Amino acid sequence: MFVSKCLNVNEKGHLTIGGVDTVDIAGKYGTPVIVYDENAVRDNCRAFVRSIDKYYGGNGRVLYASKAFSCLEMCRICSEENMGLDVVSGGEIYTALKAGFPADRMYFHGNNKSEDELKYALENNVGRIVVDNPEELKALSVIAKDMGKTASIYMRIKPGIDAHTHNFIRTGQIDSKFGFALETGEAMECVKLAAETESINLVGLHCHIGSQIFDIDPFVHAAQVMMKFIADIKSQTGIVISELDLGGGFGIKYTEEDKPAAFGAYMEPVSNAIKASAAENDIPVPFVLIEPGRSIAGAEAVTLYTVGAVKHIPNVRTYVSIDGGMTDNPRYILYQSAYTVLCANKADKPRDSVVTVAGKCCESGDLIQENASIQTVERDDILAVLSTGAYNYSMASNYNRVPRPAVLMVKDGNVRTIINRESYEDMVRNDI
Ligand SMILES: *Cc1c(COP(=O)(O)O)cnc(C)c1O
Repeated sequence: MFVSKCLNVNEKGHLTIGGVDTVDIAGKYGTPVIVYDENAVRDNCRAFVRSIDKYYGGNGRVLYASKAFSCLEMCRICSEENMGLDVVSGGEIYTALKAGFPADRMYFHGNNKSEDELKYALENNVGRIVVDNPEELKALSVIAKDMGKTASIYMRIKPGIDAHTHNFIRTGQIDSKFGFALETGEAMECVKLAAETESINLVGLHCHIGSQIFDIDPFVHAAQVMMKFIADIKSQTGIVISELDLGGGFGIKYTEEDKPAAFGAYMEPVSNAIKASAAENDIPVPFVLIEPGRSIAGAEAVTLYTVGAVKHIPNVRTYVSIDGGMTDNPRYILYQSAYTVLCANKADKPRDSVVTVAGKCCESGDLIQENASIQTVERDDILAVLSTGAYNYSMASNYNRVPRPAVLMVKDGNVRTIINRESYEDMVRNDI
C-alpha cells in the first residue's frame, strides 16, 4: 500500500513509521520534522553489504554516499554496518571524523576540491582521493610531497553511458563537469601522467553514471567499459588497476509508478560482466566498490508538516500551504520530482482531492507537489511527504531565514532526535 515497508496505518487511521504514530510525533516534536526508521535504513545497508559479499566473495565494499544525508548519527550507523563512506567536501569529512568514522574507509570525491580540502584529507589519512582532473592531480602531488606522503588515488572516468534520468542528475556522458573522458584519450593521458607523478599512487578507477536509475543495462554497460579501460591501461602501460568503484544511482520508490530493481538484480549481472571481462582480457578481478546514497536513506523517511491555508481557486486549483517547503525539500523546484503526499491523521480515508502542496517561501515555484491525490485536508491537519530521506535535509537552506527542521529516528518503537531543530538564534549565528 505504501512506497516503503516502514510505513503503515494504525487503528486510529494514522500513518505510522517504524510502528510509531506520526501524528503523535508531530504533536510532540513540532513540524516540519523529518523522521527516519533506523531499522529500515540498516536493512538497506545490510542488503547491499550481503549482496556485494555474495557476488564478489568478500572482495568488495559498499560506500554510503553521505551527500544523500550526512550527519553524525548516519555516519555512526554506516560505520557499525561495516560500510565505507563517499565524501565530497571538507565538511562531509569533518562530520565523519567527528562521528569516529575510520578515515581509511573514506573516499573523497568532487570535481573541484580546494587545496585546503586536499590537505585536510591527507592529514587525516582519508583512504582514497578520487582525482577529477589534471590540475587536481598536480596540486595533490605537490601537497602530498610537501607532507611527505603518498596519495592513493582513483581517477574519475566518464564512461560515456547515457542513463535515462533527469538531465541534471546524469553524469556519465561526455558533456559532464565530472571526470576524464575516455573517447578523447584524455583519461589514458592522465593515467600515464599519474604513473610518473611523484607522491601519487594510482590504484583505482571510478565512475558514477547518474541517479534514480531503474534500468540495469546502463550499469552493466558502464562496468564493461571500465573493465575494457583497465585492460587497455595494462596493455599500454603495464599498470594493473586493482580497485574499481562503480558509483551509485540505484532508483527508489517515490510513487507507485517507480519500479526499482532488487539489489541482486543489479549485482548479479554486473558482477558477471566484470568476471567475464577479467577472464577475457586476462586481468585480475578488481576489488569492487559501489556507492548507494538514495537507496540507503531515501525511502526510509517521511517529512511531516502542518497544514495552514487551504486556498480553493475555482476552476484553477487548490493550494494547500504547509509550514515548510523548498527550504527543507528543494527537489520539486530543482527537478519537478514526484512524491507521494498524504494526510497523516486521515491516512485510512480515500484520497479524494487533487491539490497543489505549496511551501511558505516567497517563490511561486516553492511547491512540494502539483496535482497530488490526497485526502481532503483542512487547517491543522498533518501532511506527510514520503521518501524524503535523501537529498532533502542535505539540500536544505535557510532561505527566508526559515530554520532547518529537526530530524528524528525511530527504532523499535522509540523516537529520538538526531539533529536539533534550528533556532532563530542559529539564523544570526554568523552575522556580525
Ligand atoms: C551522488 C553520488 C552517489 C550516490 O548517488 P545515489 O543516486 O544517491 O545512489 C555516488 N557516487 C557519487 C560519486 C555521487 O556523486
